[in-house]
Amino acid sequence: MNIHEYQAKAILKEFGAPVSRGVAVFKVEEAEAAAKELGGPLWVVKSQIHAGGRGKGKFKEAAAGEKGGVRLSKSIDEVKTNVQQMLGNTLVTIQTGPAGKQVNRLYIEEGSDIEKEFYLSALVDRETSRVSFVVSTEGGMDIETVAHDTPEKIKTFSIDPATGVMPHHGRTVAKALGLSGDLARQADKLLGQLYTAFVSTDMAMLEINPLIITKQGQLKCLDAKVSFDDNALYRHPDIAALRDVTEEDAKEIEASKYDLNYVTLDGSIGCMVNGAGLAMATMDIIKLYGEAPANFLDVGGSATKDKVSAAFKIITADPNVKGILVNIFGGIMKCDVIAEGVIAAVREVGLKVPLVVRLEGTNVELGKKIIGESKLNVIPANDLDDAAQKIVKAVKGAA
Ligand code: GDP
Ligand code: MG
Repeated sequence: MNIHEYQAKAILKEFGAPVSRGVAVFKVEEAEAAAKELGGPLWVVKSQIHAGGRGKGKFKEAAAGEKGGVRLSKSIDEVKTNVQQMLGNTLVTIQTGPAGKQVNRLYIEEGSDIEKEFYLSALVDRETSRVSFVVSTEGGMDIETVAHDTPEKIKTFSIDPATGVMPHHGRTVAKALGLSGDLARQADKLLGQLYTAFVSTDMAMLEINPLIITKQGQLKCLDAKVSFDDNALYRHPDIAALRDVTEEDAKEIEASKYDLNYVTLDGSIGCMVNGAGLAMATMDIIKLYGEAPANFLDVGGSATKDKVSAAFKIITADPNVKGILVNIFGGIMKCDVIAEGVIAAVREVGLKVPLVVRLEGTNVELGKKIIGESKLNVIPANDLDDAAQKIVKAVKGAA
């Protein structure tokens, strides 16, 4: 689960990490009081969306002005103008995709005077089963680009869970960032605070980009991106409450209610498959024949008629879906259950796109019979190859 920057900073602050003072704003009328409370003389108005790259992003609406999603402001009036322009409008960044994301919350911070920008992140490294830190002098930049062009500028190290952060880790960070004296001591302290925050809240990822040195000689987390391990959320009801469903895909939220493994993709063929491996193979073969999947969906082995029906409805409600491929290998999952679920969904919501069904395995004859007797306009397929070719042909013919 991801959270907003202002929420992440509040958590980091609880663990003592240095962040700017700030006030979250949901309405234009709240801007002035927030700006006054912070005092100035410099403010930063920051769009709160989960996607990164906000600073370099651009709003879709002309009324939002030319500037990006993170705006320095030098007076209370300027803060107010920026809040008016940004709130409710759609920010497009390299991470949002072309559709962008509506900005429903802003964070107003006291502005910092930046001397230097660094990069710092932490994540669970599955290879070493430890929390790994990544630090770099190249802050404020896209870290993937740094890793590609100048890998020597990135330092990675992991923490032994038995000892936690040791003094030598602090020295490693200080050396990598070229810090000495008081700043090296601040880096050492910050590392300990971030590690404690990471482990105690079951984070999966923490990214501070940029971590800055202010002109006053203070280390500070100027941006914070945090995601938590969903499997541990039950231990942190206060963190689970920070979930902002408007940031998540509506189809994925619906699918999670039925415990379906569903991920939205950007192709045109909706897939309903059982088993993650078969789902991957189905997506591959659709690609092979020249189209792309609109989703990954594994209905699982123990799916009921209702679950299958819910899955089918989620797929048909997606306007990007131009054709549907049902590919089931009945093992534990029975073909007749799939057939009944599909038919129940079609009866309720109709079927406006071509549907190819390939059934194999347990109760396959019964499944085929149910579909045959339903008089649904189904294109039957014999095997995976046949099914993929048929749905791609049907979708291309319709286009
Ligand atoms: P992102 O673009 O989504 O990563 O958002 P950031 O929080 O990283 O902000 C983008 C950029 O805005 C930063 O890299 C800084 O250069 C700049 N910025 C953010 N806060 C301040 C601030 O308090 N003072 C100054 N001078 N620049 C800031
Ligand atoms: Mg940033």
